[in-house]
Amino acid sequence: MTANLLDYDLDGLAVFCDRLGEKRYRAVQLFRWIHQKGASNFDEMSDLAKSLREKLKISAQIKAPNLISQHISSDGTIKWLFDVGGGDAVETVFIPEEDRGTLCLSSQAGCAMGCRFCSTGHQGFSRNLKTGEIIAQLWFAEHFLRKHLQRDERIISNVVMMGMGEPLQNYSELVPALRAMLDDHGYGLSRRRVTVSTSGVVPMMDRLAQDCPVALAVSLHAPNDALRDDLVPLNKKYSLAELLNACNRYLAFAPRDFITFEYCMLQDVNDQPEHAQQLVSLVRHYSSGGVWCKFNLIPFNPFPASGLTRSVPERIQAFAKILSDAGIVTTIRKTRGDDIDAACGQLAGEVKDRTRVGERIARQRTFVLKPVSVISK
Ligand code: SF4
Repeated sequence: MTANLLDYDLDGLAVFCDRLGEKRYRAVQLFRWIHQKGASNFDEMSDLAKSLREKLKISAQIKAPNLISQHISSDGTIKWLFDVGGGDAVETVFIPEEDRGTLCLSSQAGCAMGCRFCSTGHQGFSRNLKTGEIIAQLWFAEHFLRKHLQRDERIISNVVMMGMGEPLQNYSELVPALRAMLDDHGYGLSRRRVTVSTSGVVPMMDRLAQDCPVALAVSLHAPNDALRDDLVPLNKKYSLAELLNACNRYLAFAPRDFITFEYCMLQDVNDQPEHAQQLVSLVRHYSSGGVWCKFNLIPFNPFPASGLTRSVPERIQAFAKILSDAGIVTTIRKTRGDDIDAACGQLAGEVKDRTRVGERIARQRTFVLKPVSVISK
C-alpha cells in the first residue's frame, strides 16, 4: 500500500525511510521538502538521490484532502472546506490579524460530544481524521497563502485545534500532527503558539501534559454542573471539579502559566450576572490564591435548529466586567467572517447528506476560489 507521508511526524518518517534502507538525515530532508517547501512531487526534491526519489514514487505519496470551496470574508478571514470522503467535509479557517495569522483546524469529521450550542455537535460523529488529514490543513493553508501573498516567510504564526471535532477523542492521530507543527524541520511553531481546545476529556488532558504539552483551552460554557450537564454533555462523565483539578495538573507542564476558558454567551441561558459571580467563585476555589486562567467570551453564532440566541452586547460587556473586576483577564472574541457563514461546522453540515453526496459536493464546487487578491494581510 502507498504510504501518505503527511501521516508521519519526523520520527515516523525516519522509521519509514529506514524501511527503505535510508538514513535518518534523508527523512529530515524529505520532511523539510514536504512541510517547509510545500512539495507534493518527489521530482521537485532536487537534493534527494534519484534512486531514493524513484523508490518514493513507488511506495509513497503526499496527499491532502481535495478542496471543495474557499470563502473569503470582507475582513480577510478565509474558510476552506475539504472533502474527506464518504460524503464528509471538514472546515479550516484562517484569521489574519495585525500581529499574527491564526489557523483553526478540524480534528474529526463531525463530533460525538453533542454540545448544544455547536453546529458540528448537532451533526453527530462520522470519523476521526488521520494525522495526514489534520496536518494537511496547515500544509495547504501555509503554502497557499505564501504563494498568493508572494511571501517566503511563515504566514501562519498560531494554530488552534478549535475546528470540528474533539481533538482529545482522536489522540493517537492528533499527537503526531502536533509534533509536525512544533518540529523545527516542520513548521517550527512554539508550544505557546499551538493550542488544543477540549470540552474536558480529563484522562487525555493528563496524557497530553506528558506527551506534547502545548497550550490548552477548555470549553467551559457554564459555572455549575447542572447547567454544564445540559450544554456540554461530557460534563456528566467528568464533572467541573474533575475538570478543574485536571487543569491544575496540566498547568505544571503547560507552556503558559494559564489555561484559557472559552465561554459561549447564550442569551438568558448562561449570561446572567449570577453566572459570572459563580465563575469567579469557581476559579477562586480551584486556583488556591492565584488566578491561573483567562476567559474568552464568545458571542454565540446562531444556526438553525439550535433554539439558542446570541447574548446582547450589553449583557456580554456586563458579564466581562464582573470577571475583570475580580482580577480575571477576560476578552470578548471579535466575531470574524460573519459574511461567509455563521457557526463552525455549518458549511460542512450543508455538504453532509449521505443520500446525495456527489450532487451536494458538486454544488459546493460551483462557488469555489474567488480571486485571492482580496486577501488582506
Ligand atoms: S463544541 Fe467542540 S466538542 Fe462540543 S460538539 Fe462542538 S466540536 Fe464537539
